[in-house]
Amino acid sequence: MIKISTINEVLPRSEMQLLEKYFYSEHEKILFCNDSKSNLKAIIAVHNTKLGPGLGGCRMWNYQNENEALIDVLRLSRGMTYKASITGLNLGGGKAVIIGNSKTEKTKEMMESFGEFVESLHGKYITAEDVGMTPSDMQTISTKTSHVVGTPKEMGGSGDPSIVTAYGVYMGIKGAAKFRWGNDSLSNKKVFVQGVGKVGSYLVNYLNKEGCEIMIHDIDDSKMEKISKKYRLKKVSKNEMFKQEMDIYSPCALGATLNDENIENLSCEIIAGAANNQLEKEGVHDILLKKKNILYAPDFLINAGGLINVYSELKKWDQNKTLQKTENIYDTTISILSRSKIENISTHEAALSIAKERLSN
Ligand code: NAD
Repeated sequence: MIKISTINEVLPRSEMQLLEKYFYSEHEKILFCNDSKSNLKAIIAVHNTKLGPGLGGCRMWNYQNENEALIDVLRLSRGMTYKASITGLNLGGGKAVIIGNSKTEKTKEMMESFGEFVESLHGKYITAEDVGMTPSDMQTISTKTSHVVGTPKEMGGSGDPSIVTAYGVYMGIKGAAKFRWGNDSLSNKKVFVQGVGKVGSYLVNYLNKEGCEIMIHDIDDSKMEKISKKYRLKKVSKNEMFKQEMDIYSPCALGATLNDENIENLSCEIIAGAANNQLEKEGVHDILLKKKNILYAPDFLINAGGLINVYSELKKWDQNKTLQKTENIYDTTISILSRSKIENISTHEAALSIAKERLSN
């Protein structure tokens, strides 16, 4: 049996059970939610509540099987612990996944049932929006639990967090540019944005205003078409996207795009995007990027804008304060990149060690 004690050890992709075991040992609570009446199949994972209740979005996705959903929720909730910690928020790490197609299988009854499961945790987990979910779903969930944030603005909530997430990612990109090039102007920089959903499309708007040369790819042709027409952007195909000449790669779709194959093809100088869990293997692919002299702005640091936004709902912050806090991502990015350089460690490791320091106090 292989003993896994640190994140630096290699986790073979095929050994799902091993991965599960590793993550299981860290989590405080994992709740499997099955309700045959509403067809709900969900998993809620609470990773660590040392700094506060585990807050993290609920993702609805058409997972191939339950194992894939489990791995996803365990990784995502763990990431939330470190995201809250590094951002200086008094929150823990939690996340939920609902197995199913959000476009065809989501019902009001399913959302209500999910809300009841959230309520059963008595505030140890606070839910919010993630891929496949909307502020209006949060509204439905709120009829069954008070432990939900991100309800629509007109209902008194903080609304869609994606706008603030995109702003934070933009700050992270500029921080990384300042560190790399000594200047944070992105004018004329070639940027590839993978995934033009909620966050990706808002990010494109910021980058476009700054005069970037933007390329996009999305598996959803209609979204890609819409955004490329709106901003007159170059569309790139799945097979060609990582071979493009670019200064910055911004992953804004799903995770694990920083893997052996893509890193081999990539020739950018900076990677900075919204997607969670971009590194397929922590301790392997972050080091590979360092060796290739590609500056990777850690995902859980620069995509924290959405978390700051929902935290503002709990703390009753106004929009200005929320945006100010999100702007801090610029300085934090620079300080983490500097630490990685000084200590000759990967940027991911530098970010993780700072997040862990706060958790160990
Ligand atoms: P979204 O569902 O609105 O957008 C994701 C987009 O990626 C969709 O358009 C989808 O078609 C596309 N996509 C999926 N797989 C793809 C692939 N292999 N190649 C190209 N495109 C692909 O989701 P979002 O809210 O914009 O979130 C994007 C990412 O950012 C997710 O990983 C999410 O977890 C993360 N994130 C989002 C927030 C937020 O506030 N929404 C906060 C933090 C992190």
